[in-house]
Amino acid sequence: MVIEKNKVVSLVYELQVDGEVIESLNEDRPLTFIYGTGALLPKFEANISGLKVGDAFSFELKSEDAYGLATEDAVVEIPKSVFEIDGEFDNEMVKEGNAIPMMDGEGNRLNGVVVAVNAETITMDFNHPLAGDDLSFKGSVVEVREASAEELEHGHIHAAGGCGEGCNSDCSSDEGCCGGGCN
Ligand SMILES: [Zn+2]
Repeated sequence: MVIEKNKVVSLVYELQVDGEVIESLNEDRPLTFIYGTGALLPKFEANISGLKVGDAFSFELKSEDAYGLATEDAVVEIPKSVFEIDGEFDNEMVKEGNAIPMMDGEGNRLNGVVVAVNAETITMDFNHPLAGDDLSFKGSVVEVREASAEELEHGHIHAAGGCGEGCNSDCSSDEGCCGGGCN
């Protein structure tokens, strides 16, 4: 069976940027996803199309095919009051260099990094941490299988026990029933 649309694919890989290892996955913790559903970068998927179990891959994604270039537009000033909890500004959490989970106007979750703590505002950088980086992937295919009808309907994979078993979160969340640290 080869990697193509709607197959569940498990991969292990090492990701390097400028010769430095950024991420390393092994077979105890592979990346598992439904191919062709937009879960991964399109150019990443294009590079593994047609591979089968045991096949190795090695390719580079230029930043424009990965997370793009860092832009000034993604650096914004946010009023300090946004970070107040019960009227108290959170000095511990909101300090230079910390990544803070935020939500945009449409309810999408995104991480911002605190660039500066100013008198009235916080300067935050919402550029992707890998913006501007060329990504070098080297790895192999661990598993390729058919997605179940339920998985395709939900748009995410289910672990061996099926959906809901042993999971606290429900299937309606973006991360899926097994995305919350359980399987
Ligand atoms: Zn589900």
